Amino acid sequence: MSMYLRDATYIDWRTLKFTTGHLRVEEGESGGIEFVDEVPADLGREDRVLDCRGRLVTRSFACGHHHAYSALALGMPPPPTPPADFQQKLQHVWWKLDRALDPELVLLSALATALECARSGVTFVIDHHSSPNAVEGSLDAIAGAFEEIGVGVLPCLELSDRDGSAASEKGLAETGNRLAAGKPCLVGLHASFTVGDDLLAKAVALARKYMSGIHVHAAEDTIDQETTFAYYGCRVVERFKEAGVLDFSRSILVHGLHLDKGERDILKGSPAWLAENMESNLNNRVGLFSAEGLSSRVMLGTDGMHSDMIQSAKAAYFNGIDPEHADLVGIYSRLRRVHDYLSENGFSGDGENNLVILDYPAPTPVRQENFLGHFFYGLGSRHVESVIARGRLIVEGRRVVSVNEEEIRAMVRAGAERLWKRLAQ
Ligand SMILES: [Zn+2]
Repeated sequence: MSMYLRDATYIDWRTLKFTTGHLRVEEGESGGIEFVDEVPADLGREDRVLDCRGRLVTRSFACGHHHAYSALALGMPPPPTPPADFQQKLQHVWWKLDRALDPELVLLSALATALECARSGVTFVIDHHSSPNAVEGSLDAIAGAFEEIGVGVLPCLELSDRDGSAASEKGLAETGNRLAAGKPCLVGLHASFTVGDDLLAKAVALARKYMSGIHVHAAEDTIDQETTFAYYGCRVVERFKEAGVLDFSRSILVHGLHLDKGERDILKGSPAWLAENMESNLNNRVGLFSAEGLSSRVMLGTDGMHSDMIQSAKAAYFNGIDPEHADLVGIYSRLRRVHDYLSENGFSGDGENNLVILDYPAPTPVRQENFLGHFFYGLGSRHVESVIARGRLIVEGRRVVSVNEEEIRAMVRAGAERLWKRLAQ
């Protein structure tokens, strides 16, 4: 099957070069795109043509760190006592929520997230999942839900010792099963301050066995550094280095706010990646990210706050101006680095045949030289009109067309009511 985009203005996502013409988009995990002189008159039965006159077409987006499991928390009643700090927020909100998730709620959370991603032009997600009382089968269920909508996913289970060793052993087994089946997966850990040495060693051994990587929060709040130092006599990144977490180019450290120079040097000298999540950091009042002293292996995520990567890029830029002298080119390339993380590490499904079609009636001229000005100050996910994922149309005219969106949304809303009631008990 092929899809033809007639009269598209295509913007190369790396060079920002504008080219106008007809694009042929190939379907499949590693399908490509090419310009054709004309759209053939004798189309195959499955072929599609989209009229893209006046539309901008570019590579769709990918999210470097997400928590689909938090999707049903949107609009949830707040805890009876407002959390005083980051640790209380974890204890009173997130660790209560993830323990309340059953297999159906895990599935609904993933579907809800994948719908939001699709509508925002996000066609691949690196997810960090937690449901300590619904571990078995959760990774495949999440992957299946994303697949149903048409969004690619690299999942993992957020393991920790906070629910006892039986839960973490189950999580290791679930992760090992998915990796043993040859399916894309990382080995997830919550954070240094909730992971003991035994679990850390087992997680790294599992990642090594299957040539995977560790996906873990690092130095999000000072509590991670303080607890790590009190228990292990070293800093978070030093501990991770010693344990072997940083040996893998598939490893992702998340946040990295409270890192000293030595830790930044260690990270820079390792093949590991870092995911920045500016809005989550603002929301949790844990500090502001700065990439100072880090390598260019920094990408952007949403940390479960939402699924809109254009919004994440804007937040990284506007809140990065002061602490790290952020500029448009630097933050745009940080937004796009997730594609390099995925391709360099051999994960498929995030190739050139993932596209957004933007209905952006630019109020001023838009071209290669000023595109980033438009991207950060003019464009928004409201301009995402259609989305092509792996060569397949999943959003058309701002509606998800890969599934019955209304039906899923009704199920998700009912699931949210059920979860909120459970949490209020
Ligand atoms: Zn996170």
